[in-house]
Amino acid sequence: MESCRDLSNVCVIVFLSMPCRKHSFRCMDRIASSIPEGCLLPIEWAKDRKKDAEKPVLFVDKALEGRANLIAGANKENYHLKNLTPGKDFHPTAYADLRAVTGGEACPNCGKPLRIDTAVEIGHIFKLGYRYTESMGARVLDKNGKEVTPIMGSYGIGIERILTAAVEQSNDENGFWLPPAIAPFEIVVAPVNVKDETVRAAAEDIAKRLEAAGYDVILDDRDERPGVKFKDADLVGIPFRITVGKKVTEGTVELVLRSTHEVRDVRITAIVESFEELLRWPR
Ligand SMILES: [Zn+2]
Repeated sequence: MESCRDLSNVCVIVFLSMPCRKHSFRCMDRIASSIPEGCLLPIEWAKDRKKDAEKPVLFVDKALEGRANLIAGANKENYHLKNLTPGKDFHPTAYADLRAVTGGEACPNCGKPLRIDTAVEIGHIFKLGYRYTESMGARVLDKNGKEVTPIMGSYGIGIERILTAAVEQSNDENGFWLPPAIAPFEIVVAPVNVKDETVRAAAEDIAKRLEAAGYDVILDDRDERPGVKFKDADLVGIPFRITVGKKVTEGTVELVLRSTHEVRDVRITAIVESFEELLRWPR
C-alpha cells in the first residue's frame, strides 16, 4: 500500500462486503462515489484510467479477500455482474479491516463513545421501495383519487426468536420460565400424591376454578414423584406452580413463583384472587 501517495485528487473507492440493500443478495458495495449504492464495478475503474496517478485507490474489505465469484455492481443502476474475483479481475490497492468497530470509538453521528453489547435480533424491517410494487403492477388510489404505485416495506417478527430471547433472559440451572403471555401454560397444578384422595380432589378443584377464571392451567395428575413433576414444569417454562400437598387439610396450598423461587401459602378459597394480582391483564 502506498502510504505516502497524495490522495487529495485521486478517487478513493472502498468495497465492502454487505448484503446489497436493493437486491438482497451479497454484493460488493462502496462508500463515497457518485455511482448509486451497490452499483459500482471495480473493473471499469481500473481500465478507464491509463496513468497510474489517475488510477483509483481501491480499498477492499478483508472479508472479501480470497473469495471468488462474487457479485458486484455494474456501474449502472439495478445491474450486477457475477463471478468477480478480487486479485484476478481487478487489483485492490489494499485489503483492510473496514467494518469492525470496537467499543469506545466515536459515533460517526454524535461523537459519543460507542458501546458494544450482545443482542438478539427479534425482528427486522426492510425498506423495499418500489421494487416489487412496480414490477408487479401494484396500484392504489391517493387522496385525490389518482392511481399511484405504493412504496413497500416488509416487517418481520421472528416468533421462534422471541422464544429464544425469553429463554435467554430467564433461566437458571434447573431450566427456564417464560413470560405468562407466551408460556404454554401459565399455571401448573401439581398434586404431590395422586393416590391421596383429598389431595387429588383439591388439585382437580383448583385447576377447574382457575380454568373457569380464564387461566391456562395444566393439572399434572401423573402418578410421579413431586420432584419429577417440578423438573418437567421447569423444562417447559411454566411461570407459576401450585403444589397441592398435606396442607390441604388446613385449606392451604403452596404457590411457587418460578422466577424468584418465592413460595407463598395461599388459601384454596382465595386461589383465583391470588392470580388476579399476579397475572393482571384483560382476558
Ligand atoms: Zn451517536
